[in-house]
Amino acid sequence: LAGQLGLRPGDRLLAINGHPLRDLIDYRYYLTEDEVTLDLWREGKPLRLSLRKHPDDDLGLTFVAPTFVNGLRTCNNHCGFCFVKQLPRGLRQTLYVKDDDYRYSFLFGDFITLTNLTEADWQRIAEQRLSPLYVSVHATDPGLRRQLLGNPRAADVREQIARLGTIGIQVHTQIVLVPPYNLGPHLEQSIHDLARLYPIVQSVAVVPVGLTDHHPYLKALRAAGGDPAAIPHQGAGRPPHLPLRSLTGAEIEVVLRRCQAWQKTFRQEFGIGFVYPSDELYLSAGQPIPPASHYDGFPQPENGVGLARLFLDDWKRTRRRLKSNPSPRQAERDKLPSPDRRGGRSEALPALAILTGLLFAPVMQRVADEVNALIDQGVPLPFRRLSVHPVTNEFLGHRVTVAGLLTAQDVIAAGRNCEGDVLALPRAMFDAGGRVTLDDKTADDIAAAVGRPVRIAGWMSELL
Ligand code: SF4
Repeated sequence: LAGQLGLRPGDRLLAINGHPLRDLIDYRYYLTEDEVTLDLWREGKPLRLSLRKHPDDDLGLTFVAPTFVNGLRTCNNHCGFCFVKQLPRGLRQTLYVKDDDYRYSFLFGDFITLTNLTEADWQRIAEQRLSPLYVSVHATDPGLRRQLLGNPRAADVREQIARLGTIGIQVHTQIVLVPPYNLGPHLEQSIHDLARLYPIVQSVAVVPVGLTDHHPYLKALRAAGGDPAAIPHQGAGRPPHLPLRSLTGAEIEVVLRRCQAWQKTFRQEFGIGFVYPSDELYLSAGQPIPPASHYDGFPQPENGVGLARLFLDDWKRTRRRLKSNPSPRQAERDKLPSPDRRGGRSEALPALAILTGLLFAPVMQRVADEVNALIDQGVPLPFRRLSVHPVTNEFLGHRVTVAGLLTAQDVIAAGRNCEGDVLALPRAMFDAGGRVTLDDKTADDIAAAVGRPVRIAGWMSELL
């Protein structure tokens, strides 16, 4: 429609049907009419265009930023475990933004704390029915939550969520486990408080805190020889460090056990499990990833909840397809001279080296073993062999084992040392557009550095 109307790249859309546009949400909201008048700014001059359309029709426009020229709402908290302050310099600039913007929460599922909402924001959320929103709770006890957020003015999140319910908004929530603060009875209380707010609260993800070697407290602890009492105060006017550590294996096991018990209760009461431990907790504990039915429609896959199950189920479907139909890439393979097509395994085909984080590597290895077994059985595939290469996160520290936080520099170092004609990299280590890594490198940069082609994939079906 945009092309038919004569809209051009660089045009600035100011209003729809007289409503000034603040962001992408306004654009979508006011576009749901069958008669639309657009006010634009083109090359320094105003322009007005009108059209009739179906209310559901989009114009097909893309915008420079979802919040147009109004910028992103940043947060007013000082969480001791904030990932932004654990990042070294030299990463892509957007990573240093402490965003806490309800519009991004509605549009993209970003987590917000509700601590920076103005009355005008509440009215807009109600008027435009911005549901669902994604809320970081961490603890429902107001005092503990204020401590965790480093924000003495944070309101009672239970009251805020109840208020969202009165205006027809549902929320998905997360509790980042920050030991020892919000475990044990605090976690029990938080889960039960949130369950009392069902169905306003639709899901609770339970995820472990992520700590890098660059965290100011951990750096100070190292400098103090590991003695917390020897850490100097941060200076006048600054709060003392919140002592932090990762979850222990025993704590993870207790959390998983409690979550399983809660799920049982909530499944009887609500018909859904309601509380969902993140994949990282299952993988760290060496426990199997639950079946898809456990995830009740996968409310939070972007938060690492159920993504491993989606990956494994994609592989199951891919394996079925490969066994019954040859790969779509079989045509390429069939063009090879016949001596190279011995059995199911052509020596002319490339070997694929899959690089991933330490946490997911054992799962990936099991899948690669199954793929190699298919190759040995003569199932035609586009690779002669798959191998898996766990990448240690030297850049952020060895505590960080997830694939989504790998940097190009660590992947390049591992890629140079691994065999394989083609490297496969996890999509999770790139930004939302699948373009750049945390350290601002593209797949082409990595391919040039390792001297081999690179494929980005989130699923086995993209590779086979
Ligand atoms: S809410 Fe906390 S963790 Fe999130 S950006 Fe703000 S300070 Fe960081």
